[in-house]
Amino acid sequence: MKIAKIPATNQQFTIGKIVCLARNYAEHAKELGNETPAAPVLFMKPASSVIGDGEAVRIPAYSQECHYEVELAVLIGKKARNVTAEQAQEYIAGYGVGIDMTLRDVQNGLKAKGLPWEIAKGFDTSCPLSDFVPAAAVPDPHNLRLKLAVNGEGRQDGCSSDMIHRVPQIIAHISSIFTLEPGDIILTGTPAGVGKVGAGDVMSAEIVTVGRLTIPVA
Ligand code: MG
Repeated sequence: MKIAKIPATNQQFTIGKIVCLARNYAEHAKELGNETPAAPVLFMKPASSVIGDGEAVRIPAYSQECHYEVELAVLIGKKARNVTAEQAQEYIAGYGVGIDMTLRDVQNGLKAKGLPWEIAKGFDTSCPLSDFVPAAAVPDPHNLRLKLAVNGEGRQDGCSSDMIHRVPQIIAHISSIFTLEPGDIILTGTPAGVGKVGAGDVMSAEIVTVGRLTIPVA
């Protein structure tokens, strides 16, 4: 079992499903040559993909191109089914930093064939996650600076104000399809600047006021 922690309130949640958005920042959709979607594009990672601060990403042997994607992670605290965007806030337990590790070569091959993405997105160690801060500590989740550096060199520097679909709408949409349960996590998409990492690299991800993560690549 993988655990999400909110140290400030001593809360712990067993992580359930991790629902992720693709193409939720226009500049990132553009850099990969994708259209900007009208409805959120969703995929999932299994809880088994989670690692914590300081743990290493292990790139599977079937990929030669593993990318980082820094993302705002939303931790669900209450069962949510068909909630409205107006109600969504009360279902959020906290916010954290996630990295959506993606085997880009594998994903591109799957996309070309119209096949699902799980082996490119959900492999073991593909979801580094920080501890969470309570939702009340983040008055505006759309005014957060997201940064990722590799070996100390800045690669991503975006703002959650550039999200296409915002957190309340995301929760409303997801909860109309999948019941969200305490311990479920939403990864809200990445800003531009994604790129490749390899063995020996160290990623440092930060969302100012939310948290940080230092993740080596084995
Ligand atoms: Mg992503």
